[in-house]
Amino acid sequence: MIDLRSDTVTRPTEGMRRAMYEAEVGDDVFGEDPTVNQLQGRVAEILGKEAALFVPSGVMGNQLALKIHSRPGDEVILERACHIFNYESGAPGVLSGVQLNILDGERGILTADQVESAIRPGFYWEARSRLVCLENTVNKAGGVVYPLENTQAIAEVAQAKGLRLHLDGARLWNATAATGIDEATYAAPFDTVNVCLSKGLGAPVGSLLAGPKDLIEEAHRYRKLFGGGMRQVGVLAAAGLYALDHQRPRLAEDHAKARRLAEGIADLPAFSIDPDSVETNIVMFDVAAGGASPVLAALQEAGVRMVPFGPATIRATTHRDVSMEDIESALRVMERLYGASVAARDA
Ligand SMILES: *Cc1c(COP(=O)(O)O)cnc(C)c1O
Repeated sequence: MIDLRSDTVTRPTEGMRRAMYEAEVGDDVFGEDPTVNQLQGRVAEILGKEAALFVPSGVMGNQLALKIHSRPGDEVILERACHIFNYESGAPGVLSGVQLNILDGERGILTADQVESAIRPGFYWEARSRLVCLENTVNKAGGVVYPLENTQAIAEVAQAKGLRLHLDGARLWNATAATGIDEATYAAPFDTVNVCLSKGLGAPVGSLLAGPKDLIEEAHRYRKLFGGGMRQVGVLAAAGLYALDHQRPRLAEDHAKARRLAEGIADLPAFSIDPDSVETNIVMFDVAAGGASPVLAALQEAGVRMVPFGPATIRATTHRDVSMEDIESALRVMERLYGASVAARDA
């Protein structure tokens, strides 16, 4: 099976499992797990922030950020494609009591003007605009890298109006691998940044929320309140440290595989895709007729798994457990099933 459903389907490598086995551990609720402390320090340093907090999931990292930046009744500005709005089970309303102001960007990307006009003047009958959340790379838009200029301009607007800024950087590593701009530069305009170890980096679990020391202390308190206090999780932090050392440097390979897949799909008349739209490890393409479901079923039958991202849109994500040879095999399967145009088959 060639599993392109997500970059979360990777399994820990032998080296990663060895690092987990050998990890020094302690009770992290007492702050005594040396490997967790090491990971937190390392990620804070990479992101250029004072502190970082290890959390079980990216959702928890994002929701802790909403919690520490807002009060109930506040409003959070986001783009329609973002994970926080689409894939976090309605948590902002439940956990923080905030309302969301959803803007429509271009491939998931907002401009500073859009954000500025969404910020409310502050009449008492309005919700208080409090926080802007951006995502880099934008998953649902197809792994799009957030241009640094947009981020910086949005940060200026947010600062001028007294709003906080949070980055959902689940795949920030991929943005860096694609552009060579380091993570700290991308993170600099933001108060807090969430990064995931469990996507392209291939760790079994874990994300980190980074930011100034006082805000991360506040997040530490709410992590416990949300049920995210953990004990001897140095075994998991060790996987994260291993991933940073060994998987982060090779993410560009995943991007090359995605690019090859997109170019191959572009040759098939049954699908439409612009290969130049593929910037990182996510490939989105449209099905010309009949919708995504029958295509996904036929591909699965032939040993290739992808996921629907809309009635006629399919997402394929590359990762370390699929090789370039696997991509070529997947393309041969797609060509066999969908290679000839309907007219050519009928002739
Ligand atoms: C995966 C992901 C998350 C976090 O998801 P978890 O499954 O909770 O780790 C957050 N944001 C984006 C953009 C993601 O892709």
